[in-house]
Amino acid sequence: MSVLIDRLSRIVGARHCLASAEELFVYECDGLTLDPVRPVAVVLPADAAEVSGVVRVCSELGHPVVPRGAGTGLSGGAQPIEGSVVVECSRMDRILEIRPEDRVAVVQPGVINAELSTAVAELGLFYAPDPSSEQVCTIGGNVAENSGGPHTLKYGTTTNHVLALELVQSDGERLRLGSRAGRSREFDLVGVVVGSEGTLGIVTEISVRLSPIPEGVETLLAIFDDTVSACRAVGSIIRSGLIPAALEIIDQRTINAVEDSVYRAGLPRDAGAVLIAEVDGAPCSLPGEVERIGECAREAGARECRVARDEAERARFWRARKGAFGAMGRLAPDLYVHDAVVPRARLPEVLEKICEIGDRYQLTLSNVFHAGDGNLHPNISFDRRNAEEVERVIAAGREILETCVAAGGVITGEHGIGVEKRDYMKLVFEDEDLLPMLYVRDAFDPERVFNPTKIFPTTRFCFESNPRARGYDRVPFK
Ligand SMILES: Cc1cc2nc3c(=O)[nH]c(=O)nc-3n(C[C@H](O)[C@H](O)[C@H](O)COP(=O)(O)OP(=O)(O)OC[C@H]3O[C@@H](n4cnc5c(N)ncnc54)[C@H](O)[C@@H]3O)c2cc1C
Repeated sequence: MSVLIDRLSRIVGARHCLASAEELFVYECDGLTLDPVRPVAVVLPADAAEVSGVVRVCSELGHPVVPRGAGTGLSGGAQPIEGSVVVECSRMDRILEIRPEDRVAVVQPGVINAELSTAVAELGLFYAPDPSSEQVCTIGGNVAENSGGPHTLKYGTTTNHVLALELVQSDGERLRLGSRAGRSREFDLVGVVVGSEGTLGIVTEISVRLSPIPEGVETLLAIFDDTVSACRAVGSIIRSGLIPAALEIIDQRTINAVEDSVYRAGLPRDAGAVLIAEVDGAPCSLPGEVERIGECAREAGARECRVARDEAERARFWRARKGAFGAMGRLAPDLYVHDAVVPRARLPEVLEKICEIGDRYQLTLSNVFHAGDGNLHPNISFDRRNAEEVERVIAAGREILETCVAAGGVITGEHGIGVEKRDYMKLVFEDEDLLPMLYVRDAFDPERVFNPTKIFPTTRFCFESNPRARGYDRVPFK
């Protein structure tokens, strides 16, 4: 091991190569806390050249590489693997270029999401993808997860905002993909890398699209007696032809956790759910849109609709929404944040079933989610020191995913597969569907250096018994 640490230290400097038990302890997991694993080392490179050197050494000595941003991922993507080296990109945090006339910024992967919008605000621009973790998560992590956020409904996910990338491959070579001009005639390899969860290489530079800050914005809080009525309102708002910037639902248990926390916003504690609806664009169009949303909400049973009076109140609504996961820390030491998508029209019935599953397993389940996208986040508060409770958490989680798939949905909207859901892939994919993904991974990373145990099921593929006959001549996983 000392050979590895010695060689890594020579590349990044001894200060930036962590190998003591105390230092490694904090890297044992990301936001998925169920199954911590200690890496053999953590390195913090300063630039792409150092990343290349580190990857070369790991490949040569046979250590898997786990790329890491801020470690806020919720599916175990940055969770170490036995014998792995974690490559944390937090020191690569420079905005390299801002080109307002092209509406493009070039950034290193460790740039914090919200800091890019702050940096370009004086130019009248912002970076649209806004995960609720925006104050800490990195753009490199967002690229790997194809992250979304409350404003995905109108602006799309990370993939809609990435123009070009630099990727360090397993032999240490640096590959440039895409074009800052935003048009490319080649295969969409940028699109392949976005959302590949750190399995194809380490992203060391990203060119992103910037958007103009909307001239006007209005935010409305609709208050309901129950979550199902709030879901019905979402369906009817979309049916009315509007494309709001955001439609987010917060249920009663979450409201109370938020109101007990530093994120309190004056949300009504007795409400079954609130819907935050936001519209943005030309100021003259907004009052009419707010009125239509209010009508849809009232028809679905809203007992009150409040329009934020000023920017301060609007910011309070969003602080409550974006701080909701943090506020859950008041309910139990651990939180399992689920993530699945169902067709919007099925939201009311699926949500009822999810609550029934939580009750049946006697779990503390709450919901705060991107309702406009049908992207559910059933959250289970629990204590991982209680093994029996953990078993119930996992069993309930599986049933929740099965329910979403049965309703025509998928097993992740934005948090990725990681280690958390790799064995649920077969709920939505046949072996034949997984083959092209394996080919792509092997084309980029034939030696499976990067995140080798992530995404793909650990259970055997049926074509392994005669792989060549099925057109695949490699063992699908190590
Ligand atoms: C409170 C809270 C709220 C959240 N809200 C949202 C939300 O609204 N929307 C959403 O989509 N997600 C959300 N998340 C999940 C998480 O913040 C996102 O997945 C985010 O993109 C992870 O960024 P990170 O920098 O923390 O990456 P990490 O967690 O460090 O890594 C995530 C994945 O990216 C890979 N990776 C990291 N850097 C690189 C790189 N440079 N090159 C290649 N691969 C890399 C890792 O190997 C891992 O697979 C939330 C999480 C929390 C804790």
